[in-house]
Amino acid sequence: MTDLPASPPGRKQLGLVIDLDICVGCHACATACKEWNSGGHMAPLTDFHPYGGDPQGVWFNRIHSFEEGDGEGARTVHFPRSCLHCAEPACVTVCPTGASYKRAEDGIVLVNEAICIGCKLCSWACPYGAREFDADVGVMKKCTLCIDRIYNDNLAVEERLPACVMVCPTHARHFGDLGDPNSAVSEMVARRGGLDLMPELGYRPVNKYLPPRLDRMAPAPGPAEPPAAPDPAEGNRLLRWIDRLLSR
Ligand code: SF4
Ligand code: SF4
Repeated sequence: MTDLPASPPGRKQLGLVIDLDICVGCHACATACKEWNSGGHMAPLTDFHPYGGDPQGVWFNRIHSFEEGDGEGARTVHFPRSCLHCAEPACVTVCPTGASYKRAEDGIVLVNEAICIGCKLCSWACPYGAREFDADVGVMKKCTLCIDRIYNDNLAVEERLPACVMVCPTHARHFGDLGDPNSAVSEMVARRGGLDLMPELGYRPVNKYLPPRLDRMAPAPGPAEPPAAPDPAEGNRLLRWIDRLLSR
């Protein structure tokens, strides 16, 4: 068992805010992540049979695309999935060696490869499937929020962002301190009704998802019908549906 650092209210909690309303599923974030991390802090990210019949590899960020709804109300939803840097991460507390840990100073969850024994307990514990085992070197790897970019004094200030945030062509991805209620990302979450993934599990993910806007989920109103008042319960409908898919 590995202990978690104390996490008083207001402590820095770096994370991502992902807007499911405007993600177009282009995979730019996933490929930029792979490219940066193949040469950076967690390098190399290996591939097996990349051009064969059973390609496998280490990807910290994966995009899932789903059809949601029926008829005129149907839409395709693209759902990027990576480590959520939970406030109470099961992947850390289950680790027998202390290799998995959560940083007190900024909340980033990392793996110390030097003491990881590759037991995979953390990947079994993570309900979001965010851990990636590198069979080539026998250790667990994961999203670091590009820790070697965000604190890198050799980069211009405007480039000290996770690679996925830098490249997203629709600006669906945002990075910041979600422990600060006055930060730009926290205000965005409050304004758009940002949601936790599977909050009922109690791991308190730091990353937040912004749900698709309701007027884009519903069928186009007929000309004679006044628009119906939005039902707040509907705002969570899509994320509840994603929860069910991830829970299978
Ligand atoms: S695979 Fe490594 S990081 Fe994961 S629980 Fe085992 S020792 Fe800890
Ligand atoms: S780069 Fe942006 S738009 Fe493309 S898949 Fe990632 S989050 Fe979605």
